[in-house]
Amino acid sequence: RARHERTRHVRYEPGQDEQHQRRLMLARDLGAAVEQDQLTMVYQPKVMAASGEVMGLEALMRWQHPTFGFVPPDEFIALAEQSGRITLLTQWMLRTVCRQIDQWAQQGEPLCVAVNLSAHDVMDATLPERIHLLLQDYQLGPERLRLEVTESALIQDPTLAQGNLIALREAGLHIAVDDYGTGYSSLAQLKRLPVQELKIDKSFILKLDNDQEDRIIVHSTIELAHNLGLSVVAEGVETEASRLLLMSMGCDVLQGYLISRPLPLAQVIDWIRQYRE
Ligand code: C2E
Ligand code: CA
Ligand code: CA
Ligand code: CA
Repeated sequence: RARHERTRHVRYEPGQDEQHQRRLMLARDLGAAVEQDQLTMVYQPKVMAASGEVMGLEALMRWQHPTFGFVPPDEFIALAEQSGRITLLTQWMLRTVCRQIDQWAQQGEPLCVAVNLSAHDVMDATLPERIHLLLQDYQLGPERLRLEVTESALIQDPTLAQGNLIALREAGLHIAVDDYGTGYSSLAQLKRLPVQELKIDKSFILKLDNDQEDRIIVHSTIELAHNLGLSVVAEGVETEASRLLLMSMGCDVLQGYLISRPLPLAQVIDWIRQYRE
């Protein structure tokens, strides 16, 4: 029996150990990632559902690790939060995006870009000032940078988040609730926060064309959000059938592979110009 357990133990250990090793190494390398230019931003277009007009882009972070290769953001953002490196990453991301908005404007494309903030960022009392300084550095109006905060980050400590959000809102920034529907908040709760937009999580959108329940949830969410004065974005729009359904439900903005995958920097302007034709 002892032997049996030992065998099982030996067989089980390597996978877990590798996972653990990987996490340790990734967490260790996050600092170098910023310093050695291993991070990049990609940009996913968002379009108005009714007119098809490009309404902006969402900036998403990518990490090409020298030995592990591409590391998914869901993985390294969580590690950055746990290891306290998230402030460094977020600051790098905000500067990179603000500089890019400025460069696009100089090329005659004044675009609005939404960035993702983690729970830690939202509760960091220095956030509004840091954003203010960046907007000042690049001479950007506050409407050019939009903030996306997940539902779960918002309700983690609403009073702590609220001060920051109010300051940012007063400075003229637009705030969206990301991944709506995956947390346990109610719209009534969220509405007390200074948010203007709701992004319905892609898990409700992906199978919209063949799931009656998802259709009911999405439709009633859109109606309730509109009644509360919020605009609604659907992410994860992959099919024409979903797009048509969302349009008929009055959804304001669409984002997803049907419109475009997240684009590397070099392709953004070409995509926008081609899409307009
Ligand atoms: P998110 O903010 O909900 O971003 C949307 C994710 O859905 C992105 O994955 C995007 O590539 C993916 N997506 C977009 N359209 C479709 C579609 O039609 N179908 C499917 N299946 N997926 C679609 P990505 O880039 O892997 O990002 C994952 C998450 O990582 C983001 O979720 C966000 O929470 C986090 N993240 C990414 N960049 C940053 C960042 O700069 N800062 C922070 N704090 N988090 C970030
Ligand atoms: Ca987002
Ligand atoms: Ca989302
Ligand atoms: Ca997400």
